[in-house]
Amino acid sequence: MASTPTKDATRKRARPSQADHARGAAQGAAQGALPSPASELQERIRAWYLAVARDLPWRRTRDPYAIWLSEVMLQQTRVDTVLPYYGRFLARFPSVRALAEAPEPEVLAAWSGLGYYRRARMLHAAAQAIADRASFPGSRDALLAVPGIGPYTAAAVASIAFGEPVELVDGNVARVLSRLFAFEGDVRSTAGLRRIWELAKQVLDRHDPATWNQALMELGATVCLPRKPRCSGCPASQLCVARERGVAELLPRARAKARPSPEPRVALVARVGTRVLLGRRCSELRFGGLWEPPSLEGDLVEEEAVSARFEELLGSPLRALAPAGRVVHVLSHRRLEVAVYSAELPSVPEGVARGDYAAFAAFEADALARLGTSTFARKLLALCPGDRP
Ligand code: SF4
Repeated sequence: MASTPTKDATRKRARPSQADHARGAAQGAAQGALPSPASELQERIRAWYLAVARDLPWRRTRDPYAIWLSEVMLQQTRVDTVLPYYGRFLARFPSVRALAEAPEPEVLAAWSGLGYYRRARMLHAAAQAIADRASFPGSRDALLAVPGIGPYTAAAVASIAFGEPVELVDGNVARVLSRLFAFEGDVRSTAGLRRIWELAKQVLDRHDPATWNQALMELGATVCLPRKPRCSGCPASQLCVARERGVAELLPRARAKARPSPEPRVALVARVGTRVLLGRRCSELRFGGLWEPPSLEGDLVEEEAVSARFEELLGSPLRALAPAGRVVHVLSHRRLEVAVYSAELPSVPEGVARGDYAAFAAFEADALARLGTSTFARKLLALCPGDRP
């Protein structure tokens, strides 16, 4: 009677030779070739993750709200930056209902300094939509039906909180997969991203998607780094087609990002007595809903022109206008180059929206820390001593 092959022996036979491996890579590079049986890849990456994963607060919970919050905060933002915000935000809004019932200015204040404020407004709106339901959406499809929750976030919450076997792709995962499979397409193109999602589905560990998805993300965040992948310490190095072909640092291919275009502005840090004047940005604009010293687009060099433009915006004469310095603040698509002036104002402008601002108000210095303000606004205030939130 023929002996039944052991699990390990089966795997050994199934693994291609180096020649098969390279041939497959060459044939499939344009579309992304499978580097080896998915099970071996899964086991190597999973074992590595279980041994070395960072102990992060959102990995100690299965609360879908807490996991959702972490996923939103981590978009475009480093773990070290998110950590203090995550704890404070959860303490302030411990449930999706608490978040839904909070006024938007309080949510923006808790988000202040974390950047990409549209995330906070969409999180808040989505929490209100969820709070109207009987329970938290319990699947990827149900999460996707909530306005403001996209494919990545829905898959992350569904797989990590509920163990639903669904693949996900973020920037880290796209980089890891494009290298593992030597995928030569443009990962920023629609077709390229679709192929990366297909690859993510092929390698998904359906038995433990929570661990697998987090392991792939961790690999991208700590080992398979954008410029200098640490292939010698990578659990998948023997299966990685890009490493074998010596092209790891060249992948993923992507169209060069456009450089942020310069946007000259003029800002005014104006005092009304002992208070500082701030404007609340109209909600549909950049930094919408946040407070800041009022600013105008334009490259104004003459003080008379600066004075005239702000007097028109604020509907009030300025006194003691003086240059306070310059601020450069780089966003994803814009490089704000700002000439900052200080001045005194007899009173707070009255009435409704003026320019980019839905409202104006003046605050004592000790009240600024409780407001929703952007890092950009804090840089402007920092030029005028005593105005820092
Ligand atoms: Fe990334 Fe190198 Fe690991 Fe391949 S071997 S997945 S390029 S770190």
